[in-house]
Amino acid sequence: MVTERFVGLALLCAVTLVACAHGKLSYENYAVYRVDITSEKQLAVLQHLESLPNGYTFLDFPSSVNKSVEVVIPPSEVVNAQRLFRQHGITNSLITGNLKQILDQERPARRKAEGFGWTDYHTLEEIYAWLDEMVAQYSTVLSVETIGQTYQKRDMKVIKLSYKAGNKGIYIDANIHAREWITSATVTWLLNELLTSEDARVRYIAENYDWFIVPVANPDGFVYTHTTERLWRKTRTQHNLLCYGTDPNRNFNHQWNNGGTSTMPCSDTYSGPEPESEVEVSNLTSFVRSIAANVKLALSVHSHGQYILFPFGYNNAPRAYNYQDLMQVGQRAAVDIYKLYSMPYRVGTTADALYVASGISVDWAFAVAGIPLSYTYELRDQGPFGFILPAEQIVPNAEELLEGIASMIDEAKILGYM
Ligand SMILES: [Zn+2]
Repeated sequence: MVTERFVGLALLCAVTLVACAHGKLSYENYAVYRVDITSEKQLAVLQHLESLPNGYTFLDFPSSVNKSVEVVIPPSEVVNAQRLFRQHGITNSLITGNLKQILDQERPARRKAEGFGWTDYHTLEEIYAWLDEMVAQYSTVLSVETIGQTYQKRDMKVIKLSYKAGNKGIYIDANIHAREWITSATVTWLLNELLTSEDARVRYIAENYDWFIVPVANPDGFVYTHTTERLWRKTRTQHNLLCYGTDPNRNFNHQWNNGGTSTMPCSDTYSGPEPESEVEVSNLTSFVRSIAANVKLALSVHSHGQYILFPFGYNNAPRAYNYQDLMQVGQRAAVDIYKLYSMPYRVGTTADALYVASGISVDWAFAVAGIPLSYTYELRDQGPFGFILPAEQIVPNAEELLEGIASMIDEAKILGYM
């Protein structure tokens, strides 16, 4: 681990020259560009660029023509990037010349000394310590289980909330993509509400369903975003001297590598050397299999873009057998979420509403584990902050998630699922 961090950092610092201080990438003078993909040739150029260990970070995968993607470029590479864009006629616009300024808005200037809360983002250690505190405080209904260890030997934890025997189950995981901090922040808030809210609707869903929540499904990557590189997405498996990490949400054993993935180990959508190569993914699937018979609703919480997505995501996929129900339940959630803060959420299959992606958890949960209502939430925002959502939006975004889930349960009951 020490060697790996050293090599990783040395490389990062080598490509970025100035932005490394105290072992953490500051993103000082990193530029963010939006680039438009208008031809197959441009798509190939950008996909190649994305797959190299060059210090560039694509915030969206260049998946198809007629899309725009955002890319973070180190200061030392800006001139090269502009030349490349010119050469290939890639139209682009500068979003910011200094990403650090956006990062500085993510967290409050001074952390409050009130312990765990939702006015700031927390480390893995803080989240796990809080889970233990909650289990101690609510020991009759709440328990925590370690479902395995990560590549770097960190515990993966699931929290189970159950007020009575015979409940149907709801499964939720978050932060399988390391940089999506808002997702673990919202699901810990959700858990707190399920335990402490006095609202009748929340009490009903808390007490009449069993809740299985994995707040951080990719602990190694999540820790790395705190210590070293805020925009890291993948696991931390080492593939070769230069390339780390598999995209865990392209590594599930269902239609693996059938669209929207990369076979290049440095790419942010690298699907791994084989399906379920990542121990984090096999820990999750073993656990979900163990509870699946009783689980009717599974949610994988991601950011960003404000989408509610359901199977399937892979190339030329057929419609799910209960497509209409999946659409109806998703749309009900979107309609009710909109009533809170007028945030629009788009609903559809992953492939229709967002992009083609395969080996994804939501398709696996539906098609392999047999969970009939299986969704990905892509939380706030639709810009300008993206993955670096200011902490003051944690609570309103979490309220939207709770509203969406409660509405999904209502609609699923009407349709006879729960
Ligand atoms: Zn994600």
